[in-house]
Amino acid sequence: MARQGKKSRDGTRWERALERAHLGVWDWDLRTGDCFYSATWARMLGYSQDELANTSDLWFRLTHPDDRERALASGDRHIAGLTDAIETELRLKHKQGHWVWVLDRGGIVERDAAGRPLRLMGVQTDISRQKAAEAELEQVNVRFRLALAASGTGIWHHDIATRKSYWDTRTREIFGLVADTDEVSADLWHTYLHPDDKEATERVHQVSLGTDTIIASQYRIVRRDGCVRHVESLVRFIAAGEAGQILGTVRDITEDKLREQELAYAARHDALTGLLNRAAFDRLLADHIATGAPLAVFYVDLDYFKALNDFAGHAAGDLALKSVAAGIGRCLPPSAHAARLGGDEFALLVPDCDAAEAERLAGAILAAVRDADLGLAATSRRLAASIGIAIVHDRLTTVADALACADDACYAAKAAGRDRFALFSADAASGSGGLNAARLAADTVDAMEDGRLKLFGQQIHRLGRPWQENRHVEVLARLDGKGGRLIPPGEFIPAAERFGIAARLDRWIIRTALSRHGAAMKSGAVTLGFNLSAQTLSDPGLWDFVDRIIEETGAPHQGIGFEITETAAVTNFDAAETFVRKARERRCRVSLDDFGAGMSSFEYLRRFPVDAIKIDGSFIEHITESRFDREIVLAITSIARSLGCAVVAEKIERQDTVAMLRDMGVEFGQGFLLHRPEPLQHIVSHAAGPAREAAAREAS
Ligand code: C2E
Ligand code: CA
Ligand code: CA
Repeated sequence: MARQGKKSRDGTRWERALERAHLGVWDWDLRTGDCFYSATWARMLGYSQDELANTSDLWFRLTHPDDRERALASGDRHIAGLTDAIETELRLKHKQGHWVWVLDRGGIVERDAAGRPLRLMGVQTDISRQKAAEAELEQVNVRFRLALAASGTGIWHHDIATRKSYWDTRTREIFGLVADTDEVSADLWHTYLHPDDKEATERVHQVSLGTDTIIASQYRIVRRDGCVRHVESLVRFIAAGEAGQILGTVRDITEDKLREQELAYAARHDALTGLLNRAAFDRLLADHIATGAPLAVFYVDLDYFKALNDFAGHAAGDLALKSVAAGIGRCLPPSAHAARLGGDEFALLVPDCDAAEAERLAGAILAAVRDADLGLAATSRRLAASIGIAIVHDRLTTVADALACADDACYAAKAAGRDRFALFSADAASGSGGLNAARLAADTVDAMEDGRLKLFGQQIHRLGRPWQENRHVEVLARLDGKGGRLIPPGEFIPAAERFGIAARLDRWIIRTALSRHGAAMKSGAVTLGFNLSAQTLSDPGLWDFVDRIIEETGAPHQGIGFEITETAAVTNFDAAETFVRKARERRCRVSLDDFGAGMSSFEYLRRFPVDAIKIDGSFIEHITESRFDREIVLAITSIARSLGCAVVAEKIERQDTVAMLRDMGVEFGQGFLLHRPEPLQHIVSHAAGPAREAAAREAS
């Protein structure tokens, strides 16, 4: 009743204040057990005042079951005198069913004479919004801590006024610091810095006080056990405490760094050999050329590698490549760089290297390749290299040019017989064919090995008579080019001569033709004429070779003829004389080829007692129109007759030419009119058949 009476002007005013402040008031009389709840309290929960019964347990019934115990305990503790006031947070059920968080504060307002509490009053404030904000913040915190933990980030701060530093657990872990507290001495951090990074890092960490820029950096630390770690750091100033703080994060990025380095390494290196790859080599070479200092570029191409790979398998091939790479590496000065360009090709870059030094190095590399460990699977195999060297002085040289020059020289080395080096010479490359010639020569060498060098033949006729009476065939080489095109000897023979492989080529032709057709020759089906290059003419081992082949194949000496060009004979006079003598000893036939083209004196004919003279095709092809050509042919023919040698006219393409030549006393001829060159095999197998037929006809 008293309370009702207090509903004065003051009371109303309080009511309004409470209303504004969203405060609900409760007033509990312990003697009667009555509890009064203010209208503001009821409204806080969505009720009008008269909707709720003013029972002492009203609030309790509306309290969330989880909060009841705590709320009761708070009241009990206060009543028992353990606390100065009731202060608790609890949830009350709103009329609409949801929970309203309230802060309940109150206490004893009246006691009896003995000090026993008679009446309690309290105020409840709606703190739902605050609670929601708290919950949200907590969630953010949880997430933040999770993110920190996941990223392995440590946090530290330094208080500027107190000069104290604090490292969290993770920071201490990163630095390998064992300590129980966060506080560390202010200069501790500096003692961890890697000497090479110290200065720069300390400079970066001088954050500008008062600003809010975040400074990021990476540096290395050396842990107490000597282990080096890479750290990524963020630092900023915050206005906290008296003079502010420097707040920072650290993250150990050592693994990332290693992976980064590995990736960068992989991007620049060949996985198998560990040498540089082509792209990295090109960049390095460009940089070196740009300095203008003389340098040597080596192009190293392995010989017999494909055979090794085929024979012993890829594993053996890989082992060989690794071993070669290691061997090359051991030969090189520290300033040099080696790359694997792919397959079995390598490139080297040697700074400050002149020709003499380059040649010495090349010799060492050749030896290293020969000594390369090929593994058990390939012990019977051998490996060699062809090395081309280009010396670059001019800073305007492009990388492509430098490599092309070395490549060109490498082809020359290959063509000259492999297992050797060649120094690039501008003369060799700028001459006929240049780079292509070198390539063609090298391709010719390969063709001999992989069956792309083909034997063709062209019949030589006694004019007016069937070939069967004569049966002589000139052997002509053809190169089955890599694109499938048949390359005529006019293209690859000059290249072979220039790169010193013509003698090998001739031997190959002789060996191959005799071993395939030796039997047919023995039976008298054909005789073969071989073209010889000037190099073969002066090959001192030639006749030993021919003798051996003849012995092996059973081809008769008389069935074999050699054609040496007039020019070759004249320019290798002694060699040609010896050659002709030895041929005669063996009753092999010799023809002087392309006669007239060299325009040398007939005088030479006396010195070479050859069996036949082949008049160069250029005098024959227009003979019906050219009096000059006729005169030449007549002169040659009469001299030949006086010397007792036969005359062969080349390039007979028309019937009237045949008649004219016969009138002039030319006995033999060859040309497209009489027979177009075709695979030697065809000619021989045809000859072997009709030979018997002809013999049979004669016998009958
Ligand atoms: P060569 O010794 O004068 O051979 C005759 C060349 O004239 C052959 O050219 C032949 O195909 C071509 N020929 C024949 N009849 C006619 C014709 O009626 N008209 C025309 N326009 N050409 C005709 P091929 O086979 O291209 O050979 C060119 C040269 O290459 C040969 O000239 C020879 O000097 C050389 N050669 C061919 N094979 C070999 C070889 O195995 N070793 C060496 N060292 N040289 C070879
Ligand atoms: Ca010839
Ligand atoms: Ca000729």
